[in-house]
Amino acid sequence: MQNTQANPRTADRKHLILIVDDEPVNREILRMILEEEYEPLTAADGETALSIIRENSEKLSLVLLDLLMPGMHGLEVLQKLQEDPAVKHIPVIVLTADQQAEVESLRAGAVDFLSKPYPDREVILARVRRTIEMTEDRELIEFTERDRLTGLLNREYFYRYAEQFDQNHEGQEMDAMMVDICHFRMINERYGKAFGDEVLRRLGESLRNAVRDGGGIVCRRVADTFLVYCPHREDYKSILDGAVKALPARNSGSAIRLRMGVYARADRTIELERRFDRAKMALDTLIGNYRSSCALYDSALHENEIFEERLLESFDAAIREKQFLVYFQPKFDIRPEKPVLASAEALVRWVHPELGFIQPDKFIPLFEKNGLIPRLDEYVWRETAAHIRDWKNRLGVSVPVSVNVSRVDMFDTDLAGILTELLRENGLTPADLLLEITESAYTRDSSQIIERVNQLRGLGFHIEMDDFGTGYSSLSMISELPIDALKLDMIFIRTAFAGNRSTRLIEIIIDIADFLGVPVIAEGVETEEQMTALREMGCDLVQGYYFSRPVPGEAFEEFLLAGRRTAEKGNE
Ligand code: C2E
Ligand code: CA
Ligand code: CA
Repeated sequence: MQNTQANPRTADRKHLILIVDDEPVNREILRMILEEEYEPLTAADGETALSIIRENSEKLSLVLLDLLMPGMHGLEVLQKLQEDPAVKHIPVIVLTADQQAEVESLRAGAVDFLSKPYPDREVILARVRRTIEMTEDRELIEFTERDRLTGLLNREYFYRYAEQFDQNHEGQEMDAMMVDICHFRMINERYGKAFGDEVLRRLGESLRNAVRDGGGIVCRRVADTFLVYCPHREDYKSILDGAVKALPARNSGSAIRLRMGVYARADRTIELERRFDRAKMALDTLIGNYRSSCALYDSALHENEIFEERLLESFDAAIREKQFLVYFQPKFDIRPEKPVLASAEALVRWVHPELGFIQPDKFIPLFEKNGLIPRLDEYVWRETAAHIRDWKNRLGVSVPVSVNVSRVDMFDTDLAGILTELLRENGLTPADLLLEITESAYTRDSSQIIERVNQLRGLGFHIEMDDFGTGYSSLSMISELPIDALKLDMIFIRTAFAGNRSTRLIEIIIDIADFLGVPVIAEGVETEEQMTALREMGCDLVQGYYFSRPVPGEAFEEFLLAGRRTAEKGNE
């Protein structure tokens, strides 16, 4: 990758050099020599020097370090610098009168030395210049070791240093942490990129300060996600609180919220990245949490991880051996006095040879995350089409069946081709197979989704918008959506009929559907009371336990046959 930004150490100003010497006279001599070409800082002892160096780790070009000082010895300062990945890149020239110490300090990581009493001004300047130039040449190559914005290690080096640390500290219990900022994208959009950058810088700095003394390291993984690897500790909450305090204030005055996932006493036999996966799993449990908070990875998460691992491993065999079953749940038209079967929804179940009967909410989100969902969906569509064909052949009837089309499927450029082909194979038309697409797909990638939906509708497919009311479509967007039916998410039925809540929201959504000229399907209808109320509000179709749970194909035939009998009676 090309560095487009200038090195902060060289841009637009004199190089910053720190002079460390306990003798005021010595500091003054060097300061005067360097002043014209450089910007010298001074420190009178080791501790002060370390804190100045750490504060200016991204700006300092050189440290001139006296060895013999009261308090912390120069060699100790040198050693501390070498141990801190955030500052070890800063070159150090040692100042000493002791020849033996020169060798020792070169071994300890100094790049050069100046013997006392000092040589000529020109000699000193030449040494300083050469050292800075050499380091910068090297840095041009190595600069990518650090994240430019925060000055933290980049991910690759972070992992390298973490491994190195492990090797050098056998038996040390370590914690892997992941920290991120809630709604960082929104913060960036509302307060500007400069503010967002400042938030990231301060967060990085605060985390680093919190763990550095124990030998901990920090990196920015991507965007607003930070990783911390440090010897085991318990004070996670205070690290988090400290970080929140370090962040700049928003105009609104409300604090920015952070989340932290910790995999404490990490298992050192598993790969480092996997250890951070676990920290992320803990972090993910905090989604929807409205306060800054911290979660620990525990064995329940671990068991879930193992469970998911098993599901992923057995996917291929499950498709091959047809372990996935398609169930059907009827949708009834409730406008007539006596509701009539209008269509059905195909819903997948997994009968796993070892794990037993598994509900889709255990594996659908997992397969969406792991890219397997298109294969499962295509399988379900095929099975559904084959069922419809079979019913038409044997029973002489069928109803349209809707299948779920996951957001991921909508990005397959061949989606229309796959669907038309499987209809053709089974001698069906697009009127037989309805497509349900969740509202959140529309809001997330609207232009691509709308384009694909238009293509499918052009081929005659009917699109039902699923889970409506949870995807945050704007009103202006809704009015332009290409859809044929609106499925009200069941959360509205739940809240409307729990306690004395109102059905106002449902009425609004039915108004929206009227405005669009499409029918409303209510999902999750469990009681007669709910059904009647929905009918009075003008809802068209109802799906839910009140009529039937999702059932296997053979059981669904009962509904088809009953529907056929009613139709025959009507014709007599
Ligand atoms: P969904 O598409 O919103 O499906 C409706 C869910 O509500 C189904 O859960 C259904 O069994 C349940 N349900 C129906 N009536 C009632 C009721 O009266 N009360 C209650 N409490 N629940 C009711 P299910 O079958 O567990 O499916 C869950 C979700 O999994 C589905 O939500 C859908 O998002 C996904 N899914 C299921 N099958 C497939 C599939 O083949 N492909 C894809 N991509 N997703 C699927
Ligand atoms: Ca659905
Ligand atoms: Ca739904």
